[in-house]
Amino acid sequence: MGIVVMKFGGTSVANVERIQNVAAKVVAKRNAGNKVVVVASAMAGVTDKLINMLKELTTDYDLREYDQMVSTGETSNVPLLAQAIKQLGVPAMSFTGTQAGIETDNKYSKARISKIETKRLEAALDSGMVCVVAGFQGYCPESGDVTTLGRGGSDTTAVALAAALHADVCEIYTDVDGVYTADPRNVRHAKKLDVISHEEMLELSSLGAKVLVSRCVELGMNYNVDIMVLSSLEDKPGTLVTSKMGAKMAKMEKIAVSGVTSDKNQAKITLRDLPDRPGVAAEVFSALGGTNINVDMIIQNFGVDGIANISFTVSKTELPAALKTCNALAKTLGSLKIETDEDIAKVSIVGIGMKSHSGVAATMFKSLSDNNINILMISTSEIKISCIIEEKFAELAVRVLHDAFIDHGDNIG
Ligand code: ADP
Ligand code: ASP
Ligand code: MG
Repeated sequence: MGIVVMKFGGTSVANVERIQNVAAKVVAKRNAGNKVVVVASAMAGVTDKLINMLKELTTDYDLREYDQMVSTGETSNVPLLAQAIKQLGVPAMSFTGTQAGIETDNKYSKARISKIETKRLEAALDSGMVCVVAGFQGYCPESGDVTTLGRGGSDTTAVALAAALHADVCEIYTDVDGVYTADPRNVRHAKKLDVISHEEMLELSSLGAKVLVSRCVELGMNYNVDIMVLSSLEDKPGTLVTSKMGAKMAKMEKIAVSGVTSDKNQAKITLRDLPDRPGVAAEVFSALGGTNINVDMIIQNFGVDGIANISFTVSKTELPAALKTCNALAKTLGSLKIETDEDIAKVSIVGIGMKSHSGVAATMFKSLSDNNINILMISTSEIKISCIIEEKFAELAVRVLHDAFIDHGDNIG
């Protein structure tokens, strides 16, 4: 009997009626002869509500208390789903992250899973039980505290459990029926992909495609877990995220761009009047790295009269912490001026085929400029190009690039 992990996101378990709908799907899967582990999120909106309550008190809240607080969204939802499954005559049991053996490091609010002790889940599965695990949470053995895995982290819980339990597949049920060439809520005629490589999906997710959180795709890639993205509301074929692409890969390499995405959770910091001498950039980015801040794009201009400027981007969420670090640096580096811009977004095109197509960057920049969208920063890798633009143009830029590369993509390269 194979193991299947089924994950249901916030909108899929947003009320008791939807939970009953999910319970019926779970029971059908189990009655088809599978051992089933279910991972569930908090009801849609609950995590935001909990965070907002903390923010009403202070924006400088203690991250331990944050984790303790936001993990309750999932903790209080899984017993409802377990009970709904039981109502259908199938034995089920809910588990918190701790009870499911999900061990993490001590980085509150963005903890990484270090180990999963699967004995308890395996014993429950062997006894015929459906295991309903709270997504997004784990515990740190050193502190004994609850930790959370970062926003959207239930996807990570699901893929990590699938890897640890050697499941046949990890099914992610959500409010769209698969991965599209762009967010279908913005680009109405976006196309559903029947298959996408882990590598491309990892880029799309890291660059803002919310449908899968990037950490789960990274785990899927590292542990060779196939991820199937499906609708929780309709019975339709979904999108398979896999590394076993075979003939599909050759087809995908013929297309330059397989997805377009944007990310508004971006902020730009500019450090002006830095001393133009060796070691300054190292000092700035070591300080940021030392406080666990992920820096994305970096631009340094030519030094003039012994001073230079550096601009870089961080996520909006990390902006307050990044500014704290920069203010401390200003004291050691002299007359440093700090400017911030939160009204920016990153728009990106992704595709394995980019490796073998030329002219992709030029087409991207021209499409943006034809629509009067100014490019503030650019970064490229083998399979993606990203541009920082003004936030108000984010949706338009995605539509324009989808039009250029996907609707009329045959003209590229
Ligand atoms: P869940 O609550 O189930 O985890 P999310 O809201 O995190 O769901 O992710 C699903 C959403 O991802 C969809 O509603 C869709 O708007 C968005 N999305 C963004 N980019 C894409 C894409 N390329 N393909 C499909 N959905 C996308
Ligand atoms: N409830 C958490 C969030 O909203 C985790 C998740 O839904 O995956 O981020
Ligand atoms: Mg999600």
